Amino acid sequence: MAPQAGSVRCLPFEFAILLVVLRFLSESKLVFLLMAKCDQGYICDVCGSPVEDMADSDLYLRYIAGQVAWNALNSTSERHIRCNPVEAQFIVDADFEAVEVEGDFAKQMLSPDDRREQEEWITQAWRRLQEVVNSDIPIIDYPLKRSTNR
Ligand SMILES: [Zn+2]
Repeated sequence: MAPQAGSVRCLPFEFAILLVVLRFLSESKLVFLLMAKCDQGYICDVCGSPVEDMADSDLYLRYIAGQVAWNALNSTSERHIRCNPVEAQFIVDADFEAVEVEGDFAKQMLSPDDRREQEEWITQAWRRLQEVVNSDIPIIDYPLKRSTNR
């Protein structure tokens, strides 16, 4: 027997098995790490560029507006705010360049009341997003709370 030759032949094989086992065991951890990394730059579903700034995140805008659940944040596709014009058209703020939509999904299709309500809500959500981005507020506390006066 030549143990050296044997171990040389065996090592890569055992190493490969070990890698497979390690990969299997730590898969959930790996996914978590990847997601944590992605938090710094999800890829936009529409234009393919990373959404580098949370202040520019359509996902977080919709989360704050109550349209995306907290536990869906990591599994919902990300976009730049301007890459989702149907939502972005409702942001009415001097610091946000207005987005116009034509056709069936233009906000002009809504009744004036619905349109105003939607503009107020999404604009509030957008302002809230700009505010929470550089704060210590926990993500769970980002969403706006509906007032009861309606
Ligand atoms: Zn985009």
